Amino acid sequence: MDTRLSEEDLTFQDEVRQFLSENWDAQVAARCNNLATMKEGVEEWQRRLYRKGWMAPHWPVEHGGTDWSVTQRFIYNSERAAVGAPEAVAFGVTMVASVIIAYGNEQQKAKFLPRILKSEDWWCQGYSEPGAGSDLAALKTRADREGEVYTINGSKIWTTYAQYADWIFCLVRTDSSGRKQQGITFLLIDMKSPGITVRPIRTIDGFHHLNEVFFDNVKVPVENRIGEEGKGWTYAKSLLVHERLSIAEVADSKRALGELRELARTEVNGGKSLLDDALFAQRLSAIEIDLMALEFTELRALAAIAEGNQPGPESSLLKLQGTETQQAIQELRMDVAAYYSGTLQGELSAAQLGHAFADSAQKLYFRGRASSIYGGSNEVQKNITAKYVLGL
Ligand SMILES: Cc1cc2nc3c(=O)[nH]c(=O)nc-3n(C[C@H](O)[C@H](O)[C@H](O)COP(=O)(O)OP(=O)(O)OC[C@H]3O[C@@H](n4cnc5c(N)ncnc54)[C@H](O)[C@@H]3O)c2cc1C
Repeated sequence: MDTRLSEEDLTFQDEVRQFLSENWDAQVAARCNNLATMKEGVEEWQRRLYRKGWMAPHWPVEHGGTDWSVTQRFIYNSERAAVGAPEAVAFGVTMVASVIIAYGNEQQKAKFLPRILKSEDWWCQGYSEPGAGSDLAALKTRADREGEVYTINGSKIWTTYAQYADWIFCLVRTDSSGRKQQGITFLLIDMKSPGITVRPIRTIDGFHHLNEVFFDNVKVPVENRIGEEGKGWTYAKSLLVHERLSIAEVADSKRALGELRELARTEVNGGKSLLDDALFAQRLSAIEIDLMALEFTELRALAAIAEGNQPGPESSLLKLQGTETQQAIQELRMDVAAYYSGTLQGELSAAQLGHAFADSAQKLYFRGRASSIYGGSNEVQKNITAKYVLGL
């Protein structure tokens, strides 16, 4: 594979850098990185992407996507990650949009896609239930149809950012008589509907990302159903493939690892930098090699998509490797924080990283435990990879 950039790609890279330098400013970065202001910050950032026409690069052009080549997508993502700007929140633009584009009717496309592009609606994902996680098809939340209205009863759990959401895309059971994968229906539900209650769940990092969502006789018009009744499992699975692709975050891991290498090289404690420690240097290099391999796997997946193929079970491989690498980097960051937290051999370190670094290392470490669970646990991704990628 020739990885050199063409003249055209270099011009595009300049355009991306210019855009980022003008739009990813300290003020929007500070708002995005603080949970109290995160929603407004992310929406502001997404509106800047929208004004540039870059909110949904992966969508078909007719709906507002770009016609970027795989290389251009790679360039954009690398440059975005290099400055620490976030990807657009996946629940709307990546997850539900992929289902609406593939399976929604024209009215649904006209109603929802422009609002997602302009960040007018915040979406959340109502798949998991207390008794349905890995075994998602065991879900029990019921939708009973009468005329043109479904009545929803049941509950969802682990619903990320439900506290912010205007809409939730939900898997509900419309029939219990056949196989459990049958009788599942995909509904779009307005979070302002009477009968919906959102209850927070605090996580180990101390934040409030997650929620339980309860449905008590919630009325949903049939026009909010995607595709056919009882075919929701097919739509749900296609969405999961897109979700898993978005979880790998290779470019963001590269940035994080590059920062750690630089810190471990330049910061000195007891007369030595951490990179002088052969064992640490070896661990860091091993992660860099894994990340490079992952980057090429991601490029192959993107190239296949650009040729018109649907992303398939390889997305499980990316999710698995991507999250294991993220966690390895988070563990390394904790070790960097520990090494520089005190003084060695009675000497003062030249520049201690201090409380702020250790605090963020700890929060990222705790929060990162979840990445091998959400989007389908890594054990389940191993099963999928063994069966559908390796043919075992
Ligand atoms: C931070 C976070 C955010 C989330 N956000 C959302 C969200 O927004 N919307 C949403 O719908 N869901 C969300 N989830 C839920 C997530 O998808 C589920 O937690 C996940 O699918 C696992 O389900 P479970 O928690 O019920 O675990 P279980 O399915 O009960 O699994 C328990 C353990 O058993 C293992 N296991 C289960 N089945 C198998 C098997 N067949 N083979 C091998 N091992 C197996 C699992 O790997 C796991 O280690 C989120 C989860 C987290 C942690």
